Amino acid sequence: MQQDWQKIGLKAGLECHQQLDTGKLFCRCPSVLREEKPDFVFERRLRAVASELGEFDKAAMEAFEKGLTFRYEAYNGTTCLVEADEEPVEPADKEALEATLKVALMAKSRILDELYVMRKAVIDGSNTSGFQRTMLAAIGGELELSGKKVGIQTIALEEDAARPTAKKEGEITYRLDRLGIPLIELATAPELFTPEEVKECALKIGELFRRTCKAKRGLGTIRQDLNVSVAQGARVEIKGVQELELIDEYVRREAQRQLSLVGLREEMLKRKISEKNFAPLEIADLSQIFSETQCKFLKGKQVFGIALHKMGGLLGKETQPGRRFGTEIADYVKARAGLAGILHSDELPAYGISEREVERVRHKANCVMDDAFVIVQADAARAQKALAVVGERCKMALSGVPEETRNALENANTEYSRPLPGAARMYPETDLKPIGISTDYLEVLEKELPLSVAEREELYAGKGLSRNLVDGMKLSNYACFFEQLVEKGINATTAASLLLEGLTQLRREGIENIPNEMLEQLLLAEKNKAVTKDVMLGVLRQWSKAPEKELKEILKGLQVERVGDAEVRKVIAAIVEKNRALVAEKGERAAGALMGDAMRELKGKADGGAISAILKEELEKAAGK
Ligand SMILES: [Zn+2]
Repeated sequence: MQQDWQKIGLKAGLECHQQLDTGKLFCRCPSVLREEKPDFVFERRLRAVASELGEFDKAAMEAFEKGLTFRYEAYNGTTCLVEADEEPVEPADKEALEATLKVALMAKSRILDELYVMRKAVIDGSNTSGFQRTMLAAIGGELELSGKKVGIQTIALEEDAARPTAKKEGEITYRLDRLGIPLIELATAPELFTPEEVKECALKIGELFRRTCKAKRGLGTIRQDLNVSVAQGARVEIKGVQELELIDEYVRREAQRQLSLVGLREEMLKRKISEKNFAPLEIADLSQIFSETQCKFLKGKQVFGIALHKMGGLLGKETQPGRRFGTEIADYVKARAGLAGILHSDELPAYGISEREVERVRHKANCVMDDAFVIVQADAARAQKALAVVGERCKMALSGVPEETRNALENANTEYSRPLPGAARMYPETDLKPIGISTDYLEVLEKELPLSVAEREELYAGKGLSRNLVDGMKLSNYACFFEQLVEKGINATTAASLLLEGLTQLRREGIENIPNEMLEQLLLAEKNKAVTKDVMLGVLRQWSKAPEKELKEILKGLQVERVGDAEVRKVIAAIVEKNRALVAEKGERAAGALMGDAMRELKGKADGGAISAILKEELEKAAGK
């Protein structure tokens, strides 16, 4: 779809959430996701209570009406009573706070003097306490894109929600491992005017987060919410876009959907359709018609339907590739009445429903010429609720695009999830004192700010890193640590190869989370010639199994303590002596044959270069004799 974005008045803003690779925000559990069977499970039910402002949130009510049960999966050791909402929270994680403040400083955002932990009502059960804790850290600031600047509205630090692992009727299961992982949230002003700008901005924000060396990596660790509208449309929030590569496509498709709904409205007005067309709805019992149908999911079941006057052809109108206005209605029915979906006249006959059955439905529901109909399979009470929702959604179509929150689907389409949350949702966390941010502290942080990508490229290349290592390191979480190592005189290529390639190799073998102190000690030992480069991975394999041991002990155990040149010479002299006949015959050309023996005896204890040089000297000496 080619579009003149300016002409249709496309406007978008981004809200990016980045998980931090630190401990959890309000307890001292590690931020790790687990795949094993949970150690225990408990259940809660959501109870709608008036918020402190005395109002019921519309979104909260919708969740409450569904009457859901929530199951929570937990682990001994990596989740605690804070995640279970059985114990008060602990003060915010220092590292996470520091990373957030550094992002704010880099983006020239104004950091607040005092940070207050606030509670934001959460109604889907993804937080055991019924709210998410969030701290506004900074306001304002800007991001530089190619050719323009984009304003930042807010930068906050908040806790991640529990992750859903299973859903069935009336029940959602969440895993508590993700609950409480710190998230930096950065929201831009709605100043992005093309899908491409949205993508560029998202990449820029991702880079800003990664420069801190504290951003978690992997799918699901960064999530974007998009605010999108076109001039004649409405503000729609798309939640949970994970694939950065598709972000522009989400924007295009939302614009397409809004334009399509604007067109639908015009068509409805042209047909002189008004709210009266959908009220009152006369519900027809269609069960009899489908008692012997070929349609498996209707046969012998309770089926109800309604006519939608003058709506013929409109439910089949495409809103996004593969989705129609009928799908939009079905989304509302799923979210608000808990049914699996609807069937409508624009898609029938199909699914085993015959032409004749369609005719009988039209007759029974009192459809005339250009009327549409919708049918649902449910008991009478739920069918009534579902069909009322159908009527409501059709009424909304008379105003064009409804303001709403939508879920990102995997193919860049979206589906309705709930109305836009109301404003009356925040109140102070009473268990925590505000955090004062002094100017002294900010001055310290200012001096520690991470380098920009361009600065890193220049610095690393200047230290002799290959292009590959520069690219691998510049946005790695090891970049800040790497820079410290280089400061301490450690060879840049040795350090970068170990941190990027070496650790990748170890991860493949299942060895993870090697502490930085261990890596630093080993690299210093290499620098001080206590150990050779080629045994470093072998040392880490052993040391990671016994981290309480000293490096010296590990080297001794592996017999890879580096030996001095005198010792090397002694070993080589002995080899030369043993192979006197060969040396006498071949002279210095015996080096090729003897090098293998020397390497075997001195493996890991000396560098190959040194061994080769000393061997050559010893052979010369022998020839000179
Ligand atoms: Zn915990």
